[in-house]
Amino acid sequence: SNYTFSTLILASIIRIYIKNLNEKVDLAFSLAQAVVKNEIVVHYQVQVDAKGKPLGAEALVRWNHPERGLLSPDKFIPLAEESLVIRDIGLEVLRQSCRLLAEWSNDSSLKDKYIAVNVSPVQLADEDFVATVIEVVQNFGVRPELIELELTESALIIDAEQAILKIQQLKDFGVQWALDDFGSGFSSLSIIKTLPVQKIKIDKQFIRDAKSNESSKNLLKKIFEISELLEMEAIVEGVEEHSQHEMLIDIGYSQFQGFLFGHPKPAPEVTEKMKSSLS
Ligand code: C2E
Ligand code: MG
Ligand code: MG
Ligand code: MG
Repeated sequence: SNYTFSTLILASIIRIYIKNLNEKVDLAFSLAQAVVKNEIVVHYQVQVDAKGKPLGAEALVRWNHPERGLLSPDKFIPLAEESLVIRDIGLEVLRQSCRLLAEWSNDSSLKDKYIAVNVSPVQLADEDFVATVIEVVQNFGVRPELIELELTESALIIDAEQAILKIQQLKDFGVQWALDDFGSGFSSLSIIKTLPVQKIKIDKQFIRDAKSNESSKNLLKKIFEISELLEMEAIVEGVEEHSQHEMLIDIGYSQFQGFLFGHPKPAPEVTEKMKSSLS
């Protein structure tokens, strides 16, 4: 009968739900231990100028899961944010980045190169965030201006006033700030204008179809003009082809990131690559 049929379906849905819940809880537990078990791995992707010379690198986290191998951030950042574990993971990414900067400080060609570190809105909302960042940077003896923190517009949702205060405090300490995924969010330009951020990172969606699509190219031109009006630096993400790089240089852009210049790589590889392209 109908009754039996829907009971069966309901039972199986509940079974799937519980199974997924278990998996999620499992994952959350192992994620909570990932930092102490040294499973947090940071890869670095170079950022370059118009000539392709390295300016710095972005730190991009991966989780070396004991059974599932190297997981990309999309697979665990949402869970890490939900469970607040992102605070420990974010700190670990900052530590590894500072360690690498300390190493670079001994090399004449790399000592002025920066590392950009992504900051989750959940981290920024933590009341200890500012003090923690300052402590880590000082412990590694790193020049604060070589750390660039990347935030997304979503960081302003929870408490914009508090967020801006913290951004300003860290800026006063000396770190740089960039607004990630510019153009993909919801913020008005009037809000962005008030942010104590010196750089915008143009979201990769804009470059994706700009080659074949005249209106996307015009959009990239307008965004460049906006960055000039805001008196902010601009970097374009997702550059994969020479023709894209050239088109962006024509528009006026001078900072780039994308697979054309290198995929995210472990510290030793990216260090070697940066050194050799600077010599
Ligand atoms: P994001 O900060 O916008 O980082 C850029 C993403 O674009 C990276 O993906 C990078 O590998 C990818 N990418 C770089 N060049 C190209 C290209 O030419 N073409 C294409 N299609 N993609 C390119 P990834 O490493 O998977 O990171 C994804 C997102 O995860 C990041 O986006 C960031 O929002 C988040 N994330 C990464 N590391 C961290 C972290 O340490 N903390 C936090 N809170 N979030 C992180
Ligand atoms: Mg980023
Ligand atoms: Mg981005
Ligand atoms: Mg992003």
